[in-house]
Amino acid sequence: MKKILLGAALLLPIAFAACSKHEHGAMGPEAKVSKYHCPMHPTYIKDGPGECAICGMTLVPIEEAGADHGEADAAPDGLATVKVDPRRRQLIGLKLGKTQMGPMVRVIRTVGRIAQDPELYRTQEEFLTAISSYKGIQGSSSVEVVQRSKALLDSSRLRLRILGLSEGQIDALAKKGSSDRGLLLAQGRGSKPWMYADLYENDLELVRVGQEVEAASKALPGETFSGEIGSIDSTVNPKTRTVRVRVRLSDPKGLLRPDTYLNARIHADLGMRVSIPDTAVIDTGVRQVVFVDTGGGYLEPREVRLGVRAENRVEVLEGLKEDDAVVTSGNFLIDSESRLKAVVMGMSSKGSGGAAPDPHAGHGGR
Ligand SMILES: [Zn+2]
Repeated sequence: MKKILLGAALLLPIAFAACSKHEHGAMGPEAKVSKYHCPMHPTYIKDGPGECAICGMTLVPIEEAGADHGEADAAPDGLATVKVDPRRRQLIGLKLGKTQMGPMVRVIRTVGRIAQDPELYRTQEEFLTAISSYKGIQGSSSVEVVQRSKALLDSSRLRLRILGLSEGQIDALAKKGSSDRGLLLAQGRGSKPWMYADLYENDLELVRVGQEVEAASKALPGETFSGEIGSIDSTVNPKTRTVRVRVRLSDPKGLLRPDTYLNARIHADLGMRVSIPDTAVIDTGVRQVVFVDTGGGYLEPREVRLGVRAENRVEVLEGLKEDDAVVTSGNFLIDSESRLKAVVMGMSSKGSGGAAPDPHAGHGGR
């Protein structure tokens, strides 16, 4: 923050060199004297028309925004509302996007491989054997034998849980009565092999059993495989800090062999959320700011609190409401102009970082 202010302050003597005879700082009535600046280099300011020394573009009059614009708005510290007319908007390629409520889907990319998992296969076999022996001894043996058989069944069930199968998958296995040979060998056309994929812990909160997955292999150009998440391991791999998910893929042509590597995309449905295009956000690392078109040419800086990110969009938790138009292109130029203006208006002198915005800060000349 300090750095930004310092940077802007250093620019001032250069930018305002031409008007040093005028009063600096507060935008009083005398500020109405028209100054000109470069549309592409807002810090290049002159007293009259001319050309930009940096890019040669024709200077345009600086639009006054301030006294007439009820600037008691909660502009973030160090920023001010700026006015940009349609012609200049076109010149700097300013574009607007909408704050929208809508379904958000985050695509999580990861790498997977077709499972070759003899250990899981063996455990499945043990489990199925335990079921049949437990059934077989019912009623015909001593209580102790039945109990021991039950304990064996429970422990093999637990091992399947530890290896990552869900209760539902274990029940399905018991019902089917045969283990997954696909865990050992390719099963050919129409098979449904398992793909194991690793996810980072921070992606994990978005991932659920049943979510849709797409996978493709460089070795199989043009082929995509769809499936869904069958289970999510309950333990984190301490070395990689990743968690394994198991995906049941469809392989109608029988192309996938054990250990085939795949690029996978998990479609995590985030439900209905208010979001903006991610290009609207100016992120200083300390805070996130967007510029809102409040009408009449005014672009108002707003600090926002962001939530989850999805494809090209980011959720807004605070700072905007539905249908707010935000600047998605040209906003970095607007940002530097806004910062410069804030310095000129003397707002920055109040900048002690994090202090509540002074309701009179924007009115200058008081
Ligand atoms: Zn220029």
